[in-house]
Amino acid sequence: MLVNMRDMLKDAEQHNYAIGSLNTPNLETLRAVIGAAEELGCPIIINHAQGHEPVVHLETIAPLMKMYAENAKVPVAMHIDHGLDIDFCMKAVRAGFTSIMCDRSEYPLEKNIALTKSFVDLVKPLGITVEAELGAMPNNMPTEVPGQEQSDLSDLTVYFTKVDEAKRFAEETGVDVLAISIGTVHGMYKAKSDLDIERIKAIRAAITDQNVHLGMHGCSGTEPDQVVAAVNAGIKKINYFTAMDTAVAPVLKQMIDDYEGRPLNYTLMVNVAMEVLQKEAKKAMELFMTCKK
Ligand SMILES: [Zn+2]
Repeated sequence: MLVNMRDMLKDAEQHNYAIGSLNTPNLETLRAVIGAAEELGCPIIINHAQGHEPVVHLETIAPLMKMYAENAKVPVAMHIDHGLDIDFCMKAVRAGFTSIMCDRSEYPLEKNIALTKSFVDLVKPLGITVEAELGAMPNNMPTEVPGQEQSDLSDLTVYFTKVDEAKRFAEETGVDVLAISIGTVHGMYKAKSDLDIERIKAIRAAITDQNVHLGMHGCSGTEPDQVVAAVNAGIKKINYFTAMDTAVAPVLKQMIDDYEGRPLNYTLMVNVAMEVLQKEAKKAMELFMTCKK
């Protein structure tokens, strides 16, 4: 069933787990992610990122996401990941998204607050939940898309969200979810992750409004025990994609090798890909629910 993220996150706070927020830029990933949530009987957030536009347009993927969300046996929120401009975000409203990340983190604090607040004021009366980002998410997944260039990863602390700014941001904007920077990166980690768990606790304690929830992006490759610690410290929405998306290629390569030049049906490959995606999605969601009460 298609639901609003607000009720989902309330349940996650109450029972100490995080909800997976997974990108679904094609039919196979969409079916795999919802299939994994149904296997586990847990709620799920399905994302279309503005950064996926070169792969699939919102107008193409949104009706599919909506249909699968409405027919799912578990609660599904339809979410825009990193909506970077107002035109795109408003197209998402029209397409039926129940939640939108209005990402203005590229701007200094004052402008980020002002732009985020005006977006919250615009869509809250429509019942749409809003996520925003404070601090920056460094990128280790460079693409051709502007704003997704490789970041300098030599010192991740320069990107970290400041506790006092998070408190002020939450109070002044009225967002439902605040994505914070505490040591994760977009894309895969090359080295061992080192999350600032104490910073999550401090931000959670500083934001007294319990209707504001904390989100973490860039979970791929993060040490599992650190993901669990982050959830226990207050993270209740976790974005996850790259690890799942890159798990498919080695399996398909093996499949191609095994066929030794004989004809191989693409449809068969797609089904194998979907099985891999579902397995990876399930593994991530199980990790997010490790300490569920
Ligand atoms: Zn992100």
